[in-house]
Amino acid sequence: MPHSTMGDVRDLRIVVVGAGMGGLGTALAFAKRGFRDISVYENASNLGFVGAGIQMPPNVMRVLHRLGVSAEIEAEATDVKGTSIRKGSTNEELAHVEMPDIREKYGFPHLTGHRSNLAGSLYNGCKKEPAIKFHFATALVKVTSFSPKPTLVFKPRDGPEFQVEADILLASDGIKSVTRTQMLAELGTVSEEEDTGQAAYRIMLTREEMAHDPEMLALLDSDTVVRWVGEKRHIIAYPVSNHNIYNLSSAQPDTHFAAATNATYTTKASKSDMLSVYHDFCPLVHRMLNLVPDGEVCEWKLRIHKPLPTWVHGSVALVGDACHPTLPHLSQGAAMAIEDGAVLAEVVSKIPADKLNDPETITKTLKVYELLRKPHCSALVDLATHSGRVLHLGEGKAKEERDRLFKENGKSGSVPDKWASPDVQKMIYSNDCVKEANEQFERLFATL
Ligand SMILES: Cc1cc2nc3c(=O)[nH]c(=O)nc-3n(C[C@H](O)[C@H](O)[C@H](O)COP(=O)(O)OP(=O)(O)OC[C@H]3O[C@@H](n4cnc5c(N)ncnc54)[C@H](O)[C@@H]3O)c2cc1C
Repeated sequence: MPHSTMGDVRDLRIVVVGAGMGGLGTALAFAKRGFRDISVYENASNLGFVGAGIQMPPNVMRVLHRLGVSAEIEAEATDVKGTSIRKGSTNEELAHVEMPDIREKYGFPHLTGHRSNLAGSLYNGCKKEPAIKFHFATALVKVTSFSPKPTLVFKPRDGPEFQVEADILLASDGIKSVTRTQMLAELGTVSEEEDTGQAAYRIMLTREEMAHDPEMLALLDSDTVVRWVGEKRHIIAYPVSNHNIYNLSSAQPDTHFAAATNATYTTKASKSDMLSVYHDFCPLVHRMLNLVPDGEVCEWKLRIHKPLPTWVHGSVALVGDACHPTLPHLSQGAAMAIEDGAVLAEVVSKIPADKLNDPETITKTLKVYELLRKPHCSALVDLATHSGRVLHLGEGKAKEERDRLFKENGKSGSVPDKWASPDVQKMIYSNDCVKEANEQFERLFATL
């Protein structure tokens, strides 16, 4: 049937670029909404494997539950019951925020898990959907048209370039998004990077490696997220994989990438450099860092962009890190990407049958997604930056005030580590992006 006579929104040809958390979540959300023609193109030859953990807050667990993949995730993840913010140098607790009732309060738990568990569960969900076709080892080279029908050029690893036409293109191609760069160029603007000045080590320690040390084992067996803070640096850590792996992720001044002339994002790092960055942290932290085998230290540059003027052009929308990359200090980056996909599936489902070939309706519908998501995501990106600044304060009045606020945490309902702050948790965790999309769609569409 030629597409010009299409009468069912579920027959729209949905092309997703990138199979990260955003792309997998988007593809699955469209399949669950009944869409029948979803193609996912991914540059890597498989899902890839980042040896790192991830926090999965209740707002994203709500979406993952609707997508039918939460049970598989919960089977391995840690159900977090509290967070402890400590002085890096002494291990002294600055604040302890109990989170015993997150599930009761928000309907879903706050989990920490292995990235491969989250990505694998989403992928398993996708594989059960005949509507979703994966094309690995296939890179998007360029978008030749954004409207009315997006056309794209792909280059498979072992073959010649080919062209694809879509009805809607959803670009979840990450921080280095080709689509974003081209979209902004077409709109006569550029996508400027904002220097965060920060880089991160990511470390995973096994139960076997920690078994000799009772203090370490206590961390591994806990249901607690621990953050050790120091001037310009911190380490956040939590158990994953049924308490068999302890995941540590840090943030420190970026000295290795700042001078680099190319756009490198990760690098093998030196263990002695890592130990010297955290030289004044307490013996417990040192013992853990010392467990990392030489040659297995990896450092990530933490990158963000200045807010974009728009996420949508023609029949193309950006998703996840492609449009709102964030510092990790609020643990919401992947959560936001997965929520984006769920919101897109809701709004696109609402395109009326007689408007399926009307480019203006498609653009306006995608703009509703942007109106729903951009203010929320921008606020969280700013909050993550702000939280990092406060966590990394050096000696002085501002730090004294911060530590006083940490001490009062129970009374004020607010702590300076915004991730752990009950008031911020309430704002983010109670957000039901799918419900909001359904409630707000008509009103927002009418404003365009
Ligand atoms: C240290 C650290 C800790 C973090 N902790 C958390 C956390 O606890 N909780 C949380 O929610 N978030 C966290 N995040 C953020 C989270 O990892 C990201 O926000 C999220 O993974 C973004 O997903 P994405 O799908 O948008 O992009 P990506 O995961 O980057 O996926 C993009 C995909 O597109 C593919 N691609 C790129 N270009 C092309 C092309 N031209 N053609 C085809 N394919 C292409 C890439 O190969 C990749 O697979 C953390 C981030 C860091 C750095």
